[in-house]
Amino acid sequence: MCGQDHPTAETNSRPHRQLFQKEDEPPDWRTIALPAPAVLKLLTDSHCHPTDLPFSTAQVKNVGLGGLAAMATRVHDQQLVESFGETYGSGKDKVDDEDENTQVVACFGYHPWFSHLLSLDTSKDPLDKQQHYESIFIPSSLSPSKKDEYHQILSRIIHLFPEPVRLGPLLVDMGQRIRRTLGRGQKVMVGEIGLDRSFRIPYPPNSTDSEGTAHTTTTTVEDAENAIAATAPEKELAEKQDNPAAAAKTKTKTKTLTPFTTSTAHQLRVLELQFQVALDCGVNVSLHSVKAQGKLLVLPLFLHRTHIPLICRLPMNLGVR
Ligand SMILES: [Zn+2]
Repeated sequence: MCGQDHPTAETNSRPHRQLFQKEDEPPDWRTIALPAPAVLKLLTDSHCHPTDLPFSTAQVKNVGLGGLAAMATRVHDQQLVESFGETYGSGKDKVDDEDENTQVVACFGYHPWFSHLLSLDTSKDPLDKQQHYESIFIPSSLSPSKKDEYHQILSRIIHLFPEPVRLGPLLVDMGQRIRRTLGRGQKVMVGEIGLDRSFRIPYPPNSTDSEGTAHTTTTTVEDAENAIAATAPEKELAEKQDNPAAAAKTKTKTKTLTPFTTSTAHQLRVLELQFQVALDCGVNVSLHSVKAQGKLLVLPLFLHRTHIPLICRLPMNLGVR
């Protein structure tokens, strides 16, 4: 008899027991048993964020998948994703690599977690920061006492929020990146975009507690984006696996949330405008959706009204929670 473990009838009947260490946690991606290379090559990771964590060329080249869709989420990672696609994607200049390398799908877009930093203003006037954040964080539907409370909180921390950035020029840039990527013969989508009605805005960097008392300097958009990205579940999980003690420390530091959510109306408009770019460029969309299924179901109807010939060829990759 050899000493190796063999699957028993019991474990065979409960395969998820082998895959998941705990019921509510995904497996450790570094140690999970992978299928045979020929099978792996048939699979595509349809949603990942490779530019959010450090990686080596060898890791990307050896990933073994047939394809991976690399998402952009914010102002400061659109270029990272474009470079990632250009470096690791196949294209007309890399025909020989077609069968060897993972097919990278470069995805450009603005995630709802960062949409409060984006202004829909189309004028040439300077943006009114106060008015911008008030309109997004303090809905008119709030009771007068809640409104008052929210105004007080916002007034304590607004100087720590960055100046908002106009979305219009970002969309022009997005369209250019998509067309450039298509021109290189590479795969491209719009993503990660969507709606999140559960996400709450963290206190900006430099706030030491939920009262926001340690006010120091105004943050840049990049600082604000990085602070939010540090709360992403994927990042938290990776840190937990690498260094549980440090992750616990980070968690207590970054999990202090304001009561603010980004208004659905703002998120929806940011989403619609990005859909417009996808439709104009004729590319697919990768969607994030949390507690927003109803709104997302209505969205195709809106688009259908304005894009009847095009909506039929807009496949969506939906991540719904
Ligand atoms: Zn994502």
